[in-house]
Amino acid sequence: MNKLQPYIILLAAKIGVVFLLLLLETCCATFAREGDNKAVLIEDVLTNSAARLILSTPNTLEATVRLEFKKLQNAETSIAVPADIIVSERLLRKELLTVKAKDAGSWNFQFNYRFKIGLRSEKSTIDFVYSLPYSSSQKFAVSQGACGKYTHLKGSQNENAVDFRMPEGTRILASRPGFVVSLRDDSKSGGPTKEFAERENLVVIKHEDGTYASYAHLKHKGVLVTLGQSVVAGTPIGLSGSTGWATEPHLHFMVYRVIDSSKIESLPFRMNTSKGILGALKEGETY
Ligand SMILES: [Zn+2]
Repeated sequence: MNKLQPYIILLAAKIGVVFLLLLLETCCATFAREGDNKAVLIEDVLTNSAARLILSTPNTLEATVRLEFKKLQNAETSIAVPADIIVSERLLRKELLTVKAKDAGSWNFQFNYRFKIGLRSEKSTIDFVYSLPYSSSQKFAVSQGACGKYTHLKGSQNENAVDFRMPEGTRILASRPGFVVSLRDDSKSGGPTKEFAERENLVVIKHEDGTYASYAHLKHKGVLVTLGQSVVAGTPIGLSGSTGWATEPHLHFMVYRVIDSSKIESLPFRMNTSKGILGALKEGETY
């Protein structure tokens, strides 16, 4: 089973309120809660008459982000909003904009943002044959295939994903050459409901045609690569687990392209398996 991935929408809301008359000097806490996905973080740092919005992507090289303001009361921003933000490098603390009061009196603002890991690309025409994401000396059953009835629903952003049921700690191998654009291995939790979706560990690899593969639900500290690292098919990239939205240890493997900050397209793929080169791996079958 699986979740919605971190390139899934992270819709975060944050409210900053300043009362100038009280001369409060407040710094708002980060919106992110313990355990949340932190591939992209936008935080506000508030002083008594202005706020700076700071973007960080400590574990991600590429992201497509949209920042919107739900409320701007007696306040203005230094750049036009909503703003579409393209992240193409690891950012530690980049100032996006400032919000400030238009005139004396109370002011407040509220913003949301969402993102997908990766940059937009057009549909690829390359008919690549992927390797199995584990050693050819092992065989595992597909617990959910494309258009599965749990979390790979037809029309969903996981439509063509495949889940391989495997013991925790199984070595995961890259299925196609590329480089690591996002990773996470600090989560210790997983569970059967979508509230756990933000808690998965994963590796995302970008391919030469602009598509991405995600390898998800890795175990705590189960990432074997570094950000930006180049891999070939067969490079060990992680250890399987059941973090995130998962009821049992398994690997969620998916190829996708980014459409915008709220949408990815899960792409069908061909894979070289123990049963030959297949265009679709079937639920219940072992490969
Ligand atoms: Zn899945």
